[in-house]
Amino acid sequence: MDLHNHTVFSYDGSNTPEEIIEHAILHGFDAVGICDHEFTIKDRLGEYIDYLLHCKEKYKKDIKVLVGLEVSMDPAPEDFMTQSTEGLDYILFERLDKFNATDLYDFLALRREFDCPVGLAHCDIFAMSERYGVDMLEIMRRENIFWELNTSGNYNYYYDFLTNENKRNAVKCSGVGVSVGSDTHAIFEYRKKQIINANKMIRDMALPLPFVIR
Ligand SMILES: [Zn+2]
Repeated sequence: MDLHNHTVFSYDGSNTPEEIIEHAILHGFDAVGICDHEFTIKDRLGEYIDYLLHCKEKYKKDIKVLVGLEVSMDPAPEDFMTQSTEGLDYILFERLDKFNATDLYDFLALRREFDCPVGLAHCDIFAMSERYGVDMLEIMRRENIFWELNTSGNYNYYYDFLTNENKRNAVKCSGVGVSVGSDTHAIFEYRKKQIINANKMIRDMALPLPFVIR
């Protein structure tokens, strides 16, 4: 799987959804998620979802296309809840681990507004556990929130996870679903080896998959 890809829809990607999907098919993925930024899609959310639902249908023989959305918690959007999110397969919330981000408990209240699966993008949950004095994995298990392994190379928590056996065991024992995302903004800079290795690792460790692709 690769559940984190940006496209021209949010002005943060260089490729169309079709280019991202065909690239994923070419590299043998079973599931590809388009997960553009809410803050640049804004009031075109319905148009975005409809377009990706059309792609899902168009490519269904070759790959499972998932309709995602990435929503920043630093700061949380004010007008987001006024639009219908029907058709979304999942939402990735990002930047929850940033210092000025939405408070964890406010986030949990927001999370409960959504029926679709919800994950945390590139989030250092171990740092959050320390900051709030809680067990983030237990909270995520209870609230049905999956965790993303982001292979973009921009986040230290990922390398930390690769090298820290205690953290890997804690995630494995928690039962929290784990997704893999390349955070691709342009396919010419695609880090194929990293995402293949991350997929292999979660398979070898038998980590639970996020609900959205089970
Ligand atoms: Zn992203």
